[in-house]
Amino acid sequence: MNLDALKYILNNRIELIEEIVAGTQYDSSATIGVANFLLANEGNLELLSQAQKYHYKEFIKPFIESATCDGVFGNGTCTGNGYIDDESLIACYIEDEFLCQHCRYDAERITVD
Ligand SMILES: [Zn+2]
Repeated sequence: MNLDALKYILNNRIELIEEIVAGTQYDSSATIGVANFLLANEGNLELLSQAQKYHYKEFIKPFIESATCDGVFGNGTCTGNGYIDDESLIACYIEDEFLCQHCRYDAERITVD
């Protein structure tokens, strides 16, 4: 779990959580409550109830664990392992560009050429 990314999302990209919850029977304010609780408790999932764990698994985890790389040329073109590494994750949310370290490197070279 990438708590730095979670913090960034809560402070700056809260709409991402609102959007993923919208259209489900769940309330995004509950999800955001779970996210804030996790942040305050260093991501300790043991402290969550079953219902809260569901919110985590469905609406929070996809953003901060095993986020997938879009690849420089679209889906399936990632030159890494297909996942965004922890170091790159916050930058992805800041730049709204979901690329792993390898693809970021490739993208920079392509831009320079
Ligand atoms: Zn990649």
